[in-house]
Amino acid sequence: MNLVLPKLAVRAASDVAWRSVALQGWGRLGSAPCQAARPERLREAAAALAAQNGRNIIAHGAGRSYGDAALNGGGAALLTGRLDRMLGFDAASGVLVAEPGVTIADVIRVFLPQGFLLPTPPGTAFATLGGAVANDVHGKNQHGAGCFGDHVEWLELMLADGRTRRVSPTQDPVTFQATIGGIGLTGVVTALAVRLLRVPSNAMRVRRQRIGGLDEYLDAFRAARDATWSVGWVDALAGGAALGRGILETAEHAAGSVAVPAEASRRMPFDAPGFLLNPLSVRAFNAAYWRRVPAGGEERVVHANRFLFPLDGIGGWNRLYGWSGFHQFQCLLPEAEAPRGLRRLLETVGEAGAASFLAVLKWMGREGRGMLSFAQGQAIPGFTLALDIPARPCSRALLLRLERVTRDHGGRIYLAKDSALSPQGMVEMYPRLGAFQEVRARLDPAGRFSSDMSRRLGLG
Ligand SMILES: Cc1cc2nc3c(=O)[nH]c(=O)nc-3n(C[C@H](O)[C@H](O)[C@H](O)COP(=O)(O)OP(=O)(O)OC[C@H]3O[C@@H](n4cnc5c(N)ncnc54)[C@H](O)[C@@H]3O)c2cc1C
Repeated sequence: MNLVLPKLAVRAASDVAWRSVALQGWGRLGSAPCQAARPERLREAAAALAAQNGRNIIAHGAGRSYGDAALNGGGAALLTGRLDRMLGFDAASGVLVAEPGVTIADVIRVFLPQGFLLPTPPGTAFATLGGAVANDVHGKNQHGAGCFGDHVEWLELMLADGRTRRVSPTQDPVTFQATIGGIGLTGVVTALAVRLLRVPSNAMRVRRQRIGGLDEYLDAFRAARDATWSVGWVDALAGGAALGRGILETAEHAAGSVAVPAEASRRMPFDAPGFLLNPLSVRAFNAAYWRRVPAGGEERVVHANRFLFPLDGIGGWNRLYGWSGFHQFQCLLPEAEAPRGLRRLLETVGEAGAASFLAVLKWMGREGRGMLSFAQGQAIPGFTLALDIPARPCSRALLLRLERVTRDHGGRIYLAKDSALSPQGMVEMYPRLGAFQEVRARLDPAGRFSSDMSRRLGLG
């Protein structure tokens, strides 16, 4: 495979078109007005960095992070959506070289028919490869396959001065580790080589099983340790003996192919009124949803997209939470702390009556390579719980309580989903933060890469 990439030529600042835009995270918690450039070529991206006129800047992929990781109110954003070329593929090794704006859906559309899948697909295929690097995303196979960065062979990183540098686990490994999961703060990833996963077909055999409560859930996950894929839906409003009940799904690749599902066949046409999601309606929905799976379980063969990206089938589903938006809280607790910690977290949201029907439990078993990877340190192996919390006047106080419980149990909060973590929480939960900051200070002494999230978390 020929991996020679185009040489950069920095064009005049006047060549860059800036537009005033208001960007939002997926949780739609308000918008961040900024100046945005949408380069189509790498030389335009370099020119955009050169032409910031002192403004700070952050890369913005598909905006699928829930909070403020990709926002930069009052500054500049480099939108990567048009840097979306696939540059090379080696079928023998499965290594794909692509620009950062290529989406997971693009990769699946082209390569699943050829027997390749992205190695660690997150729960949405709309995310870009650049975003997958910068949050070191994980999938329902994290316990076996690790995170996205584990499968990256090398990255091209554009620094604040427009120069590009190749980094890999062997070439400038420290910058590589800071960039994997580095929430865009070391530079702009302009190309990457990722090793795709070989699969027998587009089909998956999915087994669903009803789980009656939390302890049973954790045991069921442990029993499913050998499953390639596993994920659990949790009824976050069930209490008493039913606390933590849910539906565990495990899946294996299957032979033979199945029909490709239509893309976003349904769409949320308007912002739902705020009263729609109240504790009564969510409790009723959750109880019915839980009973949907027969007591003895069920098994189905489905297209991989249906299992991997169930929410992508409803376009704009984030409008379900109304105009005021929602937070997502996702934490990872070490295995030994999970029984007590998860119980306390579920009791806290149950008492507040604040959760929605979207609550997901996963098992994580491998440490990520990035200094700020979510899957890290003593929290691995562990369990991760993700909850949607509709934005209400009291939701920030609830998030603070959830942060405290997470800290008490030696856990950490996932930056890709976060909108409320405190600077102190960041320091305690990410022990390699100091090393990360050293790399940043070396690569970008003027601190030109900056975001709403980096300022909120006191990252300089
Ligand atoms: C429905 C849904 C389900 C999800 N499920 C999961 C899941 O199961 N597992 C998981 O790990 N995540 C999950 N996520 C989160 C999502 O995968 C991550 O937030 C991902 O980073 C989004 O990619 P993006 O292209 O939208 O990036 P954005 O949200 O636009 O940006 C995310 C970060 O990446 C940086 N960035 C983007 N492009 C570049 C670049 N070229 N160079 C440098 N930095 C860059 C941004 O600055 C920002 O810090 C889910 C999100 C949704 C909406």
